[in-house]
Amino acid sequence: MRITNVRSGRIIRIGSACAILVILIYTLFNYSRSEAVSGELGERTFDVHPEQYKSHKDVYPVLKTELGNFEPRNKRSVNGPGEGGRPYNMPQDRANDIAEAESEYGMNIAASDDIAMNRTIPDTRLDECKYWHYPENLPSTSVIIVFHNEGFTVLMRTVHTVIDRSPPNILHEIILVDDFSDKENLKENLDNYIKRWNGKVRLIRNAQREGLIRTRSRGAQEATGEVIVFLDAHCEVNLNWLPPLLAPIYRDYRTMTVPVIDGIDHRTFEYRPVYSHGTNYRGIFEWGMLYKENEVPDREASLHKHSSEPYKSPTHAGGLFAINRKYFLKIGAYDPGLLVWGGENFELSFKIWQCGGSIEWVPCSRVGHVYRAFMPYSFGNLAKNRKGSLITINYKRVIETWFDEEHKEYFYTREPMARFLDMGDISEQVALKEKLQCKSFGWFMENVAYDVYDKFPKLPKNIHWGMVKNKASGLCMDTMGKAAPSYIGTSACHGAGNNQLFRLNEAGQLGVGERCVEADNDSVKQAICRLGTVDGPWSYDEDLNQLIHRLHSFCLTLQPHSKTLALAPCDPNNTYQKWTITHKKPNW
Ligand code: UDP
Ligand code: MN
Repeated sequence: MRITNVRSGRIIRIGSACAILVILIYTLFNYSRSEAVSGELGERTFDVHPEQYKSHKDVYPVLKTELGNFEPRNKRSVNGPGEGGRPYNMPQDRANDIAEAESEYGMNIAASDDIAMNRTIPDTRLDECKYWHYPENLPSTSVIIVFHNEGFTVLMRTVHTVIDRSPPNILHEIILVDDFSDKENLKENLDNYIKRWNGKVRLIRNAQREGLIRTRSRGAQEATGEVIVFLDAHCEVNLNWLPPLLAPIYRDYRTMTVPVIDGIDHRTFEYRPVYSHGTNYRGIFEWGMLYKENEVPDREASLHKHSSEPYKSPTHAGGLFAINRKYFLKIGAYDPGLLVWGGENFELSFKIWQCGGSIEWVPCSRVGHVYRAFMPYSFGNLAKNRKGSLITINYKRVIETWFDEEHKEYFYTREPMARFLDMGDISEQVALKEKLQCKSFGWFMENVAYDVYDKFPKLPKNIHWGMVKNKASGLCMDTMGKAAPSYIGTSACHGAGNNQLFRLNEAGQLGVGERCVEADNDSVKQAICRLGTVDGPWSYDEDLNQLIHRLHSFCLTLQPHSKTLALAPCDPNNTYQKWTITHKKPNW
């Protein structure tokens, strides 16, 4: 029998030949941990100093040849709509129902209504996952599901799968937090439905709309389990999802864990993996604070013997994760100044890493999530006193709290309007950072998020940014709200929103959002900027007001009749080739 122990995601094989190496590795990797185990929060903590390791070895998962201790023994095979996670294509005569559901919920609730609450789904894990044995004594867990106007069957299927696929003695409770929904079937109907679980499922309701960020913090306050797990209200947890998420937290209460997310199709409810089998990704970000994922870099992957082991990740997507409850509250839960949706995943990620914790993604824990067609809810009154993009305001709070001066500049270079946004008061966040003696952002970039620079290098300064206005026509370059890749058009200059907000940087990149302007003789297009580079082909002639494509030595030209853009030989007298790039300070 092969016995291995995992810690910090590192496998240490226990055997005589390796004994010296084992001690060496323990010494190298345990010192940093041992200082941090204080027990001040009162939960189980372990001094993982080498000498004491053996007596506590039961806190580490072990890979064996026999089936894991929490692995389900009986698997069902059923036929019916959506069973096996197969796509459920509804009959043609239901087309109206589908269209209605899609527009109301951003997903096909009519399909969900036909699918069994306890439908079977494919086991998307690596085969190896079935053979991990986890500590028996894992912490009691509260699952928190916040919701605003979700489809009833989708919400309830989330609860059913958690009840059915979690060890009953570990699952302490499920807390549903209603963020002021107004749908009828989420009222008494819901109160009555959950009675079947005899109090294990609790429902609390906000007295007004709070947005998902504050609603999650409220759920954490109300929970009584040792660990809290947040799930969106349209998930299906997969086989044996919970023990692998809890084991790293059991080992160290400052570890936050994240399941690997599978996709559930919003139209057919097909359940399928997002990532190709056996590849591991982790969460990063680009300088405009859009969430990105990157294949786990060698520097992290090489620490692991098995690709089924948890690995470290700089950030997470936001919706689904597990964390020690007292630890979450101790680090201030979410910044209460963040509004509704967005940026909270970064706030928590930076805070955890910089203040002594870590984030691990757990390949053996899989949870399906319905990616909606669009966001079906409005931000309501929550946004009423805010000018400018609410999400960008959230980002600004986060970067002003956690970034250093150097990296803040990259954010403002990528999102120049953000400088003018009112982010409110962050003094409490900064005080918390002081109090917890958190490390610098530079430390985080060097030691944790080092792969960000490979994909999103440090940004050169903008030479000009704002509306790109043509002299002859008075029209402005405009993305026309289209997704990349697509042609760039022109329209009356208004400067509102992001469609006319271009940036020309010192290295010749002409960008708009995360897209770059590319051109050949016939057309001028926007495409997602190439990864790993921040330069581009453009230069601006300050005297002639021409935008010159250096590769072709041609000039950006508005074609007078079609009002489309093209490259043409430069002519200093042609006013259709003259452009100004300007911005006004917004008057908010
Ligand atoms: N949600 C909420 N209040 C809001 C917006 C969203 O409670 O104001 C809930 C929503 O019902 C869902 C979770 O928060 O359970 C995450 O929202 P969503 O699924 O829309 O985010 P996404 O998955 O698109 O990031
Ligand atoms: Mn969601």
